[in-house]
Amino acid sequence: VIHAAHAVSRISSRNARVRIPRSQVHTVTFRASVLQSASMLLASSRLLPAVTTDRLARSLPTRAVRRMAARASAAAPKKVVIVGGVAGGASCAARLRRLSEDVEITLFERGPYVSFANCGLPYAVSEVIAEESKLLVASAAKFKSWFNVEVKEATEITTINREQKTVTAKNLSTGEEKQVPYDVLVLSPGAAALKPPIPGIHLPGLFTMKTIPDMRAVKAWIKEKKAKKAVVVGGGFIGLEMVENLHHMGLDCKVVEMLPQVMPPLDPEMVELLHHHMRDKGVELCLGDGVAGFEQTDSGSIVVKTAGGKAHDADVVILSIGVRPETKLAKDAGLELGKRGGIRVDDGMRTTDSSIFAVGDAVEVKDLVTNEYTLIPLAGPANRQGRIAADVIMGKEPSKFRGVQGTAVVGVMGMTLASTGASEKTLKRVGIPYQKVYTHANNHAGYYPGAGAVDIKLLFSPTDGKILGI
Ligand code: FAD
Repeated sequence: VIHAAHAVSRISSRNARVRIPRSQVHTVTFRASVLQSASMLLASSRLLPAVTTDRLARSLPTRAVRRMAARASAAAPKKVVIVGGVAGGASCAARLRRLSEDVEITLFERGPYVSFANCGLPYAVSEVIAEESKLLVASAAKFKSWFNVEVKEATEITTINREQKTVTAKNLSTGEEKQVPYDVLVLSPGAAALKPPIPGIHLPGLFTMKTIPDMRAVKAWIKEKKAKKAVVVGGGFIGLEMVENLHHMGLDCKVVEMLPQVMPPLDPEMVELLHHHMRDKGVELCLGDGVAGFEQTDSGSIVVKTAGGKAHDADVVILSIGVRPETKLAKDAGLELGKRGGIRVDDGMRTTDSSIFAVGDAVEVKDLVTNEYTLIPLAGPANRQGRIAADVIMGKEPSKFRGVQGTAVVGVMGMTLASTGASEKTLKRVGIPYQKVYTHANNHAGYYPGAGAVDIKLLFSPTDGKILGI
């Protein structure tokens, strides 16, 4: 049946010849009636997108197939509204258009840009990525011309009315508000950078890194103030990428981290290698001491005060202590949130309202190893979830999100750190039995130029050898 689906586009006559992968069968002759039954089965089990079903209906114009195609397209939504136009939202819009020529797609973005590469922002500060335009994956105009997707930038969705199936869209330039109807709503509002209410949090010279305007502001501040000293608060992925780039720009860098290690998801003994490496490169690591507040000096610099009584002087401070899922819209609309504070969705990315889907940093998803709900603010899962939501919306089930294993990789001043699955501390916390092995082998044969050590910690199940984490 699956092979028949792949062959559908090759149907040439009522006795169609269909090529199937050599490993299966060489060449098979199907009668048209067999193909019709197979394709009806596929369409009824929703394996075929509406667009293929339409093509099929034209190829095999029987009444039964026409009825089936009509049913599929009647079930498809007419209007899809997407909130948030970056990773998850933009992927969802593009995939929806690939699946249907007919659906009306409107994408609302609060900020000034859609579909930009926020992962590249730290590298744009240092101009390692020299042209800002490289960060703009697709503009609103491209979305219109490539995908016929209506994009409304600088427009915030402020409320959802679930009974009437409308959202309130506020144009942030004019203040004008409009009710926009939807058949299906997709929420991809992302996560906001944490800014706890500690003294001095709003001082000039203190930045978070989330948007293109944030990146421009940091760059301009460093240039204008001729900044020499930077303090990065928080030693996670974004914090370390900022250190990498500020160091590259020639600033003296300090990391202030509340935990006794940077890169909190990794096990401490593996991160120790990175601690040595960063210190060797001249970065000061102030670990195990949280920030208590910020003060401005007479010269305009900032003093970062810690709970442990230390004071670190800085010309620029980057606050990268984590993110919080943007759930206000969902919460106000009465959608269920999970224990971790993200929007609760099923494996088809549906919220507790079957007309509303949610994807990306705002949702809680299952961790494949621990089976616990977790928040994984990474672009890979957000993009995938956006595409899966589009599949499910267009009836292309069984497209499912299987969960996350949190695969991540980061380069810090010449050292690369990567991880996937669970760490030892996580396995201990959830009580999953494991064994571990460390290897320190070369990445390729030592006699060949350029060989270097790769330090690996592998965690696996003692009963069946299943890999639990690296
Ligand atoms: P976002 O991409 O954040 O998009 C959400 C959008 O929704 C925002 O633009 C916001 O303005 C808009 N919005 C919110 N509410 C509304 C509303 N009510 N109305 C209209 N619009 C709204 N991930 C990786 O995998 N690898 C990396 O190397 C990496 N580096 C990163 C570096 C930085 C500096 C940052 C900030 C993030 C990085 N990430 C990285 C994380 C990755 O960017 C996110 O996981 C991903 O973008 C999440 O996608 P999303 O669609 O959920 O949210």
